[in-house]
Amino acid sequence: MELIIQISYLLAAVLFIFGLKQMSSPVTARRGIHWAGAGMVVATLVTFAAEEITGNDQAATNVMLIIVAIAIGGGYAWYTGKRVAMTDMPQMIAMYNGMGGGAAASIAAVELVKAQAAVDAGAVSSIPAYLGSDVTVLALVGAIIGTIAFSGSIIAWAKLDGRLNRSKLLPQQQLINLVLAVILVVVAVMAFNNSSLNTIIAFFGLALVLGIFITVPVGGADMPVIISLFNALTGLAVGFEGYVLGNAAMIIAGTVVGAAGTLLTHLMAKAMNRSVSNVFFSGFGTETSAAAATETGGVQKEIQPQDAGIMMAYASQVIIVPGYGMAVAQAQHKIWELTQLLTNKGVTVKFAIHPVAGRMPGHMNVLLAEAGVPYDMIYDMEDINADFANTTVTLVIGANDVVNPAAKNDPNSPLYGMPTLSAELSENVIVVKRGRGTGFSGVENPLFVADNTRMLFGDGQKVANELIQAVKEL
Ligand code: NAP
Repeated sequence: MELIIQISYLLAAVLFIFGLKQMSSPVTARRGIHWAGAGMVVATLVTFAAEEITGNDQAATNVMLIIVAIAIGGGYAWYTGKRVAMTDMPQMIAMYNGMGGGAAASIAAVELVKAQAAVDAGAVSSIPAYLGSDVTVLALVGAIIGTIAFSGSIIAWAKLDGRLNRSKLLPQQQLINLVLAVILVVVAVMAFNNSSLNTIIAFFGLALVLGIFITVPVGGADMPVIISLFNALTGLAVGFEGYVLGNAAMIIAGTVVGAAGTLLTHLMAKAMNRSVSNVFFSGFGTETSAAAATETGGVQKEIQPQDAGIMMAYASQVIIVPGYGMAVAQAQHKIWELTQLLTNKGVTVKFAIHPVAGRMPGHMNVLLAEAGVPYDMIYDMEDINADFANTTVTLVIGANDVVNPAAKNDPNSPLYGMPTLSAELSENVIVVKRGRGTGFSGVENPLFVADNTRMLFGDGQKVANELIQAVKEL
């Protein structure tokens, strides 16, 4: 039986790795999700056969508890997963992520409390004497990381869901965090050397508070990067606790998630031209940082949907740049309908995707895939940027920061250095947005007042509909 369990864990780990590999392309991503999900099913089912679960007189209770937990967790996830709006996806991920960190921390708590009971009963002299030194260290480190990811992710969820708007808790918050982190390490060392149940409780309490204190000062708009970092930490914590339990599937899955999350965090920060520490400490996207935005002189010139429709229908090439506003307006289906009409008129249409367009990695790719846009029409920034110079019309729909040319040519701009889509190089630019407001960064966009730009004001879906009518009438 033990051999079957180990082979099943290996199979689960292989399914996780191949699933993750397939998620790197939108063409295979859906299959990747199914593979990784199958891995999770294998890993969960085989748990029922584990000696610790069914090999003792508590077997019936253990199985019952697992089934109840699966029913509650799985049922809730199924229900919310089906209903969640695409714009609310980041907070759902934050919540699930936090649960992963919490689960890893709970494993550590169970093992540490079990060891402490043995110490209190006089069976052993210390926790390491019961668990082994290496296991105790990994249990403690995994507990710190998992608990911080747990409480931090809940704060991230609350901020993204608009339930918490504070970006400051105490004066000298960073200094307090540092002191708290040092105390936490001291308490962890105490738990290792000379523990008591109170030390363990204080240890988890401190880690919970530190997770909250670390996350509260982060600008609400930077939350997706923080969530990605917490995701990496959760993976790491699961890997460590996998070592504690001697579970190969947890070690492999946790390490893979840890590596993928670290890479994603790095890529997101790089695409925003920020360092991860800047994301943590600058409060970017809060009111104070938005106030630092530079003013752009000039007048925004308007265009009507009929004229915009004519411009696009007689263009040789149109590039569509979607952004966060397209997600808010849920305009992707109408945009695809417009694309088909233009293609039928002989216009070459391409979609240009900035790596941080929207509010989560791959946000635009998911929306366009949902609308049925073929993958070969969708281009990454580095593949399409040179093509803007050969384009008659660039239609910017609900995007702002990702097409801000100040990022390239204004050293005083807070966005300076962030790679952006070169929409300004095309012959004409049509920008669809509701008003004259700034985007996520709070920075003015000189593209909107450029000679070759026309503003088409209105909700993304409504305007897309008007453009469809305009093209149909030609
Ligand atoms: P953006 O800079 O936030 O701009 C979105 C624009 O959409 C706004 O200017 C808004 O203007 C418009 N809009 C909102 N609702 C609309 C509607 N219903 N119809 C039409 N327009 C609407 O978005 P972006 O260009 O996609 O840039 C993404 C930003 O998010 C970047 O600064 C990036 O660094 C940041 N970010 C991204 C991620 C990620 O993973 N993707 C993570 C963290 C941060 P109006 O209000 O005038 O309509």
